[in-house]
Amino acid sequence: MSEKEVKKCYLCGVEMQFAQKVPFRIKGHSGIWIWVFGELAELGEETLSSDVYLCPKCGHIEMFADEKAKKFLLKMTPKAFLKKCVKCDKDIPIASEECPYCEAIQKERGTLSDQ
Ligand SMILES: [Zn+2]
Ligand SMILES: [Zn+2]
Repeated sequence: MSEKEVKKCYLCGVEMQFAQKVPFRIKGHSGIWIWVFGELAELGEETLSSDVYLCPKCGHIEMFADEKAKKFLLKMTPKAFLKKCVKCDKDIPIASEECPYCEAIQKERGTLSDQ
């Protein structure tokens, strides 16, 4: 029992009850979570699990990524949030103004906006 933490409803402060595991997967590069109820068989290794907790008092539901899902999510940087450095061509966070690898200042490059 030691590995299960007590989750409390932040609305009423009562202990939430573990309801069930719900598998989900991440869609493409967008980082959108898709919950898949049932039909586990065809989804294979991409599928991760979240633990669903339910507040017996107000019905509030919370999802918690399980250990495997947590590791996966921490590792994952959706491609949508990356861009290429103008100088060294490495993947860097899209908000970077400076490349963390070569320190090149990032200028707008290949944007979709018409200027
Ligand atoms: Zn509650
Ligand atoms: Zn660079």
